[in-house]
Amino acid sequence: MTRLLLIGPPGAGKGTQAVRLAELYAIPAISTGDIFRSNVKNETELGTKAKAYMDAGDNVPDSLTNALIRDRLEDADCREGFLLDGYPRTQDQVRELDEFLAGHGFALDAVVELVADPDVVVDRLRLRAAEQGRSDDDEAVVRHRLEVYRVQTEPLIDVYAGRGMLVEIDAIGPIDDVTERITTALAERGISAPDSATR
Ligand code: ADP
Repeated sequence: MTRLLLIGPPGAGKGTQAVRLAELYAIPAISTGDIFRSNVKNETELGTKAKAYMDAGDNVPDSLTNALIRDRLEDADCREGFLLDGYPRTQDQVRELDEFLAGHGFALDAVVELVADPDVVVDRLRLRAAEQGRSDDDEAVVRHRLEVYRVQTEPLIDVYAGRGMLVEIDAIGPIDDVTERITTALAERGISAPDSATR
């Protein structure tokens, strides 16, 4: 049973690492960004509401995001653990998550911060814009997303550091190296992958 959060600026590689960690620790990776994007694509009511915020690089309102994540965390596959990627992003979302966890008698094991220099992430996002054509990877929007991160999300790092949960990882370097840094740091805290002995 492992419960993890991944936090870090846009372009730090959260999505990439989330998929790998989910497989290693045998837990679902839950990305609010992916859930919103699939709702936009399928033109659901939620997607219609979220789209303008996403395209502008703003956070989707907490009321929508909290309702979505509460629903998702109630799913059976989350009983044995989960990895949240891109949530919480605001103080209000931290409160919501705290309430959810307390209500279920759950606790987080660690909060993994992917540390990356803003200039590096802007370059990565420029590349991703060319490759994937994500509507919020336009350069001006990217700058705005970084600013939203700095103002609304970065303060959460101190909150989790204060709780002794923060694991800081250098997110610059080959993807495999970053994964290795994360699993090593988690193992040092007594958090290991279920079948790591056989790997
Ligand atoms: P990145 O981490 O690269 O910014 P994400 O895929 O995590 O990309 O998020 C893309 C967009 O989805 C965000 O800019 C925001 O509009 C919306 N979003 C994702 N997660 C949240 C959240 N927890 N709260 C509010 N909005 C969110």
